[in-house]
Amino acid sequence: MAKIGFIGLGNMGGPMAANLVKAGHDVTVFDLSETAMETLRAQGATLAKQVSEVCVEADFIVSMLPAGKHVKMIFLGEDGLVNHLDKKTLVIDSSTIDAQSAQDVGKALAQHGIEFVDAPVSGGVAGAAAGTLTFIVGGSHSNFERAKTVLANMGKNIFHAGDIGAGQVAKICNNMLLSILMAGTSEALQLGVDHGLDPKVLSDIMLASSGRNWTLELYNPCPEVLPNVPSSNGYKPGFMVDLMAKDLGLAQQAAQQTNSATPMGALAKNLYNLMQNQGKGSEDFSAIFKLYSEK
Ligand code: NAD
Repeated sequence: MAKIGFIGLGNMGGPMAANLVKAGHDVTVFDLSETAMETLRAQGATLAKQVSEVCVEADFIVSMLPAGKHVKMIFLGEDGLVNHLDKKTLVIDSSTIDAQSAQDVGKALAQHGIEFVDAPVSGGVAGAAAGTLTFIVGGSHSNFERAKTVLANMGKNIFHAGDIGAGQVAKICNNMLLSILMAGTSEALQLGVDHGLDPKVLSDIMLASSGRNWTLELYNPCPEVLPNVPSSNGYKPGFMVDLMAKDLGLAQQAAQQTNSATPMGALAKNLYNLMQNQGKGSEDFSAIFKLYSEK
């Protein structure tokens, strides 16, 4: 079993770290929140008094932080972990951040002989708790194979997307497409409803036709079409509008870097920003349906 340092015990990181403890690893954790730390202590983790303590004899460091600036600060900031890590440690950052920040951190760590992969996740809080996350890894082949031994305790599907930063790019490509599908599905369903169609019947027709997609089939945004989805539960998340808006911002940032045309992604970002401005940031992202249905 490995010695693992874990930083960032929020909605995702908390249950992920707990799954590593459950798998029998020796896990030392750090978070700014004492409550989050105490929850992990109760589950069998060792608490670090300061962040650098997670590095001691660690085979792996896993970080699950809000954004690129937090990841950069932890690893490269004043007295950052780059000054405390051993060369045997593999750093796995599972936060969703911009690819450039992942590459910057990877490069700076490499200058000290420390290996790094980005490994953002898909699957949300439920997936983190159940240990069924999808990990999308960017890094060398050998580091991917090494990271897999730990990621397998927190997830079900583990993909190698390419070099450092590729995990982040693949993740935001997926979420950009997901947001576009969610908006388009909402738009089509409401058009039908406005013409008197039953949204369940219309969904069944489109599911057997060429408009079939994941949001229509498994995460239908129209209330009462499917049981046990956020739309049938007051749009309780699920995956929050705020997080989708963050990922769409990262997608636009990535598009600018390569001069890639992403007009649909830009439009989806605008729609999700509009929802944030309407105070719907903490609702599930399928609540975009209300932009069309609330007259
Ligand atoms: P969260 O805000 O619940 O947790 C972040 C944790 O990081 C908090 O506990 C916070 O105290 C801690 N933290 C912040 N700065 C720190 C520092 N300097 N040192 C130590 N701890 C620090 O966020 P989350 O929902 O767990 O998401 C984490 C990452 O996963 C984000 O990048 C997010 O985009 C991504 N993600 C989230 C979901 C989701 O459904 N929540 C799904 C996929 C990916």
